[in-house]
Amino acid sequence: MNEYAKAITRLDNGWLQVKVPLAFSLKWVNAYLLPEQEGWTLVDPGLRTEEIEAFWISVMQEMSIDWKDIKSIVLTHHHPDHYGMAGWFQERSGAPVRMSQAAQDCANRLWGENETFSDELTEAFLLHGMDERLTEAMREHMRGFRAKVNPQPPDPLIIRQGERISMNGTEWEIVGGEGHAPGHLSFYDRQSGKLLCGDQVLPDISPNIGWMPGGDSDPLGAFLASLLEMLQLEVSMVYPGHRDPFPEYRRRIEELLDHHERRLQKMEEILSDGGKSAFEVCELLFGTRLRSNTHNLRFALAETIAHLIQMEKRGTAVRVETDRTIRYRLAETK
Ligand SMILES: [Zn+2]
Ligand SMILES: [Zn+2]
Repeated sequence: MNEYAKAITRLDNGWLQVKVPLAFSLKWVNAYLLPEQEGWTLVDPGLRTEEIEAFWISVMQEMSIDWKDIKSIVLTHHHPDHYGMAGWFQERSGAPVRMSQAAQDCANRLWGENETFSDELTEAFLLHGMDERLTEAMREHMRGFRAKVNPQPPDPLIIRQGERISMNGTEWEIVGGEGHAPGHLSFYDRQSGKLLCGDQVLPDISPNIGWMPGGDSDPLGAFLASLLEMLQLEVSMVYPGHRDPFPEYRRRIEELLDHHERRLQKMEEILSDGGKSAFEVCELLFGTRLRSNTHNLRFALAETIAHLIQMEKRGTAVRVETDRTIRYRLAETK
């Protein structure tokens, strides 16, 4: 079996799960190919790099799928590891790209021409105490993603939470979820209990809480609220964006809710010996080795800020802002 064949799993339901390689610790992102009466729907095609282009060319050959057989490209959210190859696939197949309005807005803001987001995020991190020596690395890291989502699909079709979308002979309910990425969408087949859930609920991995300047004002609060809402769905099998499909939907949501409560507790302990910046809290939580891994540092710092904001909302922490710094201390009533 060649290495491409190993990346393809034919699932019991006839779908293809394609493990598109990722350099970072997530290892791979799942693209799903859902058979249609004619051709295929492609969900979340992966990050765009030359290696991944070559990977997909081999996968398509291996499965005898022509570019024109791809009839629709559906995205759960705008993150480059899911969205990056959408425009590339569209150029070859002519298929429409379907995504949420918020996802499209994020893609424009982060990687559009003349974007200012790389600077805004770096500035915000500096305010939150990031070591100034990391400034250039962070800016360059952010700018580096532009190539990995290029070309961007010029006119995506907007799909919305609460609507339905036809895939694989079924009308799927479109389920919104916030906190990981604005306008994140999952797709739910109430009849069979299948849930294509992108990164909203992942096995083994706690989905990153995606704080960004000018974004959701309380992303962790939004994430927890989304999970509680999603707990209402009767799900028999989850098809996640990373790792493998799994049936333990409720248990996993409960674990994630619990994980964040414990993290909030831990942060109260960290703040108990005095006020700190988000960066200081982040290093106490995750260690200083993050300094040499800008990618992980960005995720960890954004998530730490999201937790501190949630503590503020709950009244357990207070934000202390001066001209050049934002710090947090425990609320006095605690
Ligand atoms: Zn994501
Ligand atoms: Zn992802």
